[in-house]
Amino acid sequence: MNTDKMVYMDHAATTPARTEVIEAMVPYLKERYGNPSSLYAIASEAKQAMENARAEVAHVINSSAGEIYFTSGGTESDNWAIIGSAYANRKKGTHLITSGIEHHAVTHTFHYLHDKGFKLTYIPVDNEGIIKLDAIEDAITPETTLVSVMAANNEIGTIQPVKEIGAICREKEIIFHTDAVQAVTHIPLDVEDMNVDLLSLSAHKFYGPKGIGALYIRKKTRIDSFHHGGGQETRKRAGTENVAGIVGMGKAITISHEKMPLEIPKEIKLRDYLIREIKQNISHTRLNGHPQKRLPGNVNMSIDFIEGESLVLLLDHKGIAASTGSACSSGTLEPSHVLLAIGLPHETAHGSVRFTLGEETTMDDIRYVVEVLPGLVERLRIMSPVYSDFCKRSEKNV
Ligand SMILES: *Cc1c(COP(=O)(O)O)cnc(C)c1O
Repeated sequence: MNTDKMVYMDHAATTPARTEVIEAMVPYLKERYGNPSSLYAIASEAKQAMENARAEVAHVINSSAGEIYFTSGGTESDNWAIIGSAYANRKKGTHLITSGIEHHAVTHTFHYLHDKGFKLTYIPVDNEGIIKLDAIEDAITPETTLVSVMAANNEIGTIQPVKEIGAICREKEIIFHTDAVQAVTHIPLDVEDMNVDLLSLSAHKFYGPKGIGALYIRKKTRIDSFHHGGGQETRKRAGTENVAGIVGMGKAITISHEKMPLEIPKEIKLRDYLIREIKQNISHTRLNGHPQKRLPGNVNMSIDFIEGESLVLLLDHKGIAASTGSACSSGTLEPSHVLLAIGLPHETAHGSVRFTLGEETTMDDIRYVVEVLPGLVERLRIMSPVYSDFCKRSEKNV
């Protein structure tokens, strides 16, 4: 039963590029195609546009432009931050700290370093997905060189106490990296106020193009170059720059940042309405993550007696794009490591669905989800042997 309706509720996976962003990019693919490293006029136009974008990115996180390095996206920024600082500081020590709920771009990078002989400590989170601060302090040793904790989680939306973690790291003179891919322009961020040394961001999570991102590197932070080749990005990240992408990212971050003060309350209102309605209209459901310390657009619910994957397929038939725990774990049978880290049993983690709202999301979209969801859940539950067992047992108990 396909419909023409399309309700996109997967903004944590990616966002549509703004029209203004695309229009700003086109000239740098057409007439202003020069290589920014060259010396003639069309090259210096490209170079100038790139430096403007660098300043735009810097402005939003309160850094200086010289501390922004362009990369191919969030994954590269995370890899560079972690591998680059781990190796640059390995004479000081080889102990690294991270959390149990990071994006795979971070966790798999740490697995790689573990194979290379680095020692890791994973800091646990509480049942609402907030990192335990005293566990960080307890884990730090004289060998520790890096702490990496995300600013906001991509699956359950929890916002971490970045400023408090930054203060601990600053006091102990340890580098602090935060994966802020979900946070940039969705919540306020300030690298000075938060004592962040390395920060990853990605344009396609704030209505910019895919394949472009940045790493903020605080001045004097010891970090190795990541790509070796030409002298681009002050010799730290070689390779001809993705000029159109960089221009698009600058435009996207500026517009999204300007809209943030209106967008945050709008999304929170829609988010909380959706959570309330799901809880009221479908039995045996609960919210994953913290009720308030969560991204404005994130709704992650566990719905007992169903498979998240099946529900996502049925939603798709109704024209609703949603996700199970995380786009990255979709396609595998392993439940999300984030949902397990907040203490969900395997079955519950499998029965989770994530709706992430964005700028185009309207109250009508939310009402449509609320209208179709209970029927879909019921369809799946009727087929579930676990559910019929549960119903029989509850009948006996009355
Ligand atoms: C999307 C995402 C990434 C990866 O960014 P890409 O630009 O897609 O490589 C990393 N971390 C988090 C938290 C993300 O949400």
